[in-house]
Amino acid sequence: MDKSSRISGFYKLSVEERIKKVREFSDLGNDDIKTLKEGLSLEYADRMIENVICKISVPLGIATNFQVNGKDYIIPMATEEASVVAAASNAARLVREGGGFEASSTEPVMIGQIQLVVDDPDDAQDIILENKKQIIGLANERDPTLVSLGGGVKDLKVRIVGSDDRRMVIIHLLVNVQDAMGANAVNTMAEAAAPFIEEITGGKVYLRIISNLATERIARARCVIPQRVLGEDVIEGIVRAYEFAAVDIFRASTHNKGVMNGITAVTLATGNDTRAVEAGAHTYASFESEYRPLTTWSKNKEGDLVGEIKLPLAVGTFGGATMNPVARVMHKIIGAKKASELSEVLAAVGLAQNLAALKALSSEGIQRGHMALHAKNIAVMAGAGENEVEKVAQKLVEEKNIRVDRAKELLEELRGE
Ligand code: NAD
Repeated sequence: MDKSSRISGFYKLSVEERIKKVREFSDLGNDDIKTLKEGLSLEYADRMIENVICKISVPLGIATNFQVNGKDYIIPMATEEASVVAAASNAARLVREGGGFEASSTEPVMIGQIQLVVDDPDDAQDIILENKKQIIGLANERDPTLVSLGGGVKDLKVRIVGSDDRRMVIIHLLVNVQDAMGANAVNTMAEAAAPFIEEITGGKVYLRIISNLATERIARARCVIPQRVLGEDVIEGIVRAYEFAAVDIFRASTHNKGVMNGITAVTLATGNDTRAVEAGAHTYASFESEYRPLTTWSKNKEGDLVGEIKLPLAVGTFGGATMNPVARVMHKIIGAKKASELSEVLAAVGLAQNLAALKALSSEGIQRGHMALHAKNIAVMAGAGENEVEKVAQKLVEEKNIRVDRAKELLEELRGE
């Protein structure tokens, strides 16, 4: 059955009504709803990390309107930042008018690095390449499950880095990790291959660890928004905003932060490793040249806006913290069958988030969109109770004076003090 993520007025619904819509869209069961409402148990949290004393809550909102490769998605986003979810939904609605996002991804191949220090690096390089098959075999022996699923080490490459007498050999194991993020799998394989590498080269292995610069695990997304949807001026503003980021590293940093507002929120919601994804994205932004925007925006011959994103996305649908009960429900909500599909959705979210930011920044500015929620936070900071927040916030927005001291005055007036 074709489902539509174009749920108009979702933001106006109560939390209960929204849960009902999500339940219908994603076929959630009673247990899923219970998990959504109760969150992670303290007992489960205590098994995930060390020295647990509590859990910290982050709001989780649903972005609507997404269509990627012809399929509709609703997207759980965990973030403490106001406007991110609304911005993603709005941008996805605009992209929908141009036919949605087109996305693709490479095979889910991660790089495991083995650092070898040896007297003659060039000689060691030859020996390692001669024994490539055996090294790959030893690594693959450690993860028969992954191999049986079609994954495992597929290739091995050798680099020599450093200079003079500090030169070292770096072996890259290229591991297809299927639906996992892959760090445990890759690290285990790198550790398994290391003793044999020491034996054949007479050198000493130091580090055996995954690289977060996942250049072999790339996701891309593209969108075309017709000129009639945005208008010529807005399109020109967005392209100008991109050109600024393309030539100025100070802007590029914030540009990419905006992209990651969306990607990190979904990464967190799905129990994936936010630091791994962030490290990969930002390093990739300076991989081929100096630090660059992760997206590009241009106009086609018809004057439509064309957006593209390309970045490494090491996210899984199996393994690691993606198995925690709350993250399992988030995966059900997205409904991606494979890790590669999830990475494509994430690329689309990053592109949408960037579109929303550039559109706002190049026209009315970003603050207007932030105002309503910001005003509520300020009202709470001023001491407003549950029944007072809305009234104080509304007045702050009307007065365009969103400050704690003014909120305190309004609160006093409201209370007749
Ligand atoms: P994992 O080891 O929990 O799961 C992967 C394993 O599950 C595979 O090795 C395979 O044997 C099995 N498996 C079963 N079905 C599978 C399928 N369909 N696809 C793939 N594997 C399947 O998890 P992981 O993804 O290897 O490790 C992720 C964790 O490692 C994350 O929690 C991350 O935070 C952590 N970590 C990250 C870094 C880093 O990024 N630098 C370093 C160390 C640890």
